[in-house]
Amino acid sequence: MAAHQRIAIVSVYDKTGLLDLAKGLVQQNVRLLASGGTAKMIRESGFPVEDISAITKAPEMLAGRVKTLHPAVHAGILARDLASDEKDLAEQNIDKVDYVICNLYPFKDTVAKINVTVPEAVEEIDIGGVTLIRAAAKNHTRVTILSDPKDYPEFLKELEAGEVKESSRKLYALKAFEHTADYDNAIADFFRKQYASDGLQYIPLRYGANPHQKPAAAYVKEGVLPFKVLSGAPGYINLLDALNSWPLVKELKAALGKPAAASFKHVSPAGAAIGEPLDADERKVYMVDDIPGIETSGLAQAYARARGADRMSSFGDLIALSDIVDVPTASIISKEVSDGVIAPGYEEAALAILKKKKGGRYLILQVDPEYEPSKKETRTVYGITLTQGRNDVEISPDSFKNIITPKDSPALPESAQRDLTIATIALKYTQSNSVCYATRGQVVGLGAGQQSRIHCTRLAGDKADNWWLRFHPRVLGIKWKKGTKRPDKSNAIDLLVSGQLPKLGTECETFEALFENVPTAFTEEDKTEWLSQLTDVCVSSDAFFPFTDNVYRAARSGVKYIAAPGGSQNDVPVFETAEKLGITFVEQSIRLFHH
Ligand code: 5GP
Repeated sequence: MAAHQRIAIVSVYDKTGLLDLAKGLVQQNVRLLASGGTAKMIRESGFPVEDISAITKAPEMLAGRVKTLHPAVHAGILARDLASDEKDLAEQNIDKVDYVICNLYPFKDTVAKINVTVPEAVEEIDIGGVTLIRAAAKNHTRVTILSDPKDYPEFLKELEAGEVKESSRKLYALKAFEHTADYDNAIADFFRKQYASDGLQYIPLRYGANPHQKPAAAYVKEGVLPFKVLSGAPGYINLLDALNSWPLVKELKAALGKPAAASFKHVSPAGAAIGEPLDADERKVYMVDDIPGIETSGLAQAYARARGADRMSSFGDLIALSDIVDVPTASIISKEVSDGVIAPGYEEAALAILKKKKGGRYLILQVDPEYEPSKKETRTVYGITLTQGRNDVEISPDSFKNIITPKDSPALPESAQRDLTIATIALKYTQSNSVCYATRGQVVGLGAGQQSRIHCTRLAGDKADNWWLRFHPRVLGIKWKKGTKRPDKSNAIDLLVSGQLPKLGTECETFEALFENVPTAFTEEDKTEWLSQLTDVCVSSDAFFPFTDNVYRAARSGVKYIAAPGGSQNDVPVFETAEKLGITFVEQSIRLFHH
């Protein structure tokens, strides 16, 4: 039997390097079969080439829509070195194909043109080429698929030396699969924008993190988005906040069985809490003493606490609420400067209140509470795709059973289990490094995004101190000038409690103009005395404490319980320091970095 003459099918849109390739193949006595335009170019250069119709016995049809789609082509490519496949080919008089060289219509270039129409785009959807590439790539144990002109020289070198190596065939096949996947992605992307930009699957965003970062969008590749935009237009950072804060409150509610709220800024919580009744001082400090119905709304209590933890940081927040939003909660939100809210639903009257905010531009998102995200997360950074399993670890009061010191300590009181749960779930959604102080069912100080752990512990501790100083009679007794706005009050209180009071000039005058009677600054003694009354605070850390300084700092803010993973070389001194300071140290064994 005569040796089989090797066959190449060539069908390329991008004709770069085509003639050198044809020359090399002909020199190796390979029979060339090519589609219309490709065959024409090879033929005009004087190389022997046949039209695909030589084997299909059918002309190209439908203005090029059908060129290579035929069993004579695809059976020739897909046949294996199996007796049954050989028999099938012989019966139909089909020859095996050895090489496929194909690249696709320029769909991306076409749809990148301004105002491209759907019919124009449709004509650029390559069918036969994708089929050629997939078929050849599928059968790469026998067939070589070249989908990138850059690979022609190396391919010809191997061919001249004998045959294409198995390792090369594998890499060409991988490239081919990526080529078709990228092509299909581009097509789906185009039609998503055309047919699904009603907010169900695809939301165009005005810009990304900054106004010059365009275009920007949010979408799911399948199905519908798990949230609806009821009012306003979300921005990129709004959505980052919403999609981090929603799971936080959902998990808090699941872990503790009470309504939960979070107040997010720049993809970290400024506060998070569950619904626990508020006493008179808390209502005053959190500026909710005029909210009717707050005594009976767990959700309003949760948001009052979440917003009240660090009122300065919460300015312009994105709010997440675990439950259907009621009127008391909406009433608090209506008084605050805020960018948006995400919740599983809204009572009609609550929605009406929120829709009036920001001249009707307040962002209101309704999330599907049953939505479960994929277990795999993917993003690109600087063009590189990073992928990881989603952090779906569950934190609950049971996560705090492993008490390291004191040795014979009984189980933690329920309040400590609750507050450690809140602090730890908050950390799960805080940019790392992070350390969180919590008490009374709420975050009271959160240090986010610091490169050193002690800086988180100090930052969060200072915030917790400031939170507590806001309950000092001197702050509670402030008499504001009539008409002083809530944010100005919060800023002034922050200056007072953080010891940053302006001393001279217009800054001082502006500050003093807010008060009927200007409060006196806190001395170190005042602060120390007041802080000595703060007790039962819980601290959680997203990773181990590398040095004892963290424990010493925590102790200065009334901390009685610490939960952190172990694993530091300094674990023993850290535990011993906690014990010396009367702090119960619990090993919460799961590291919770978040970026
Ligand atoms: P040519 O320039 O040779 O006429 O066409 C080459 C292009 O046609 C390649 O980009 C190839 O992917 C594409 N192609 C090959 N076979 C078919 C087919 O049967 N239908 C369609 N629509 N395109 C094909």
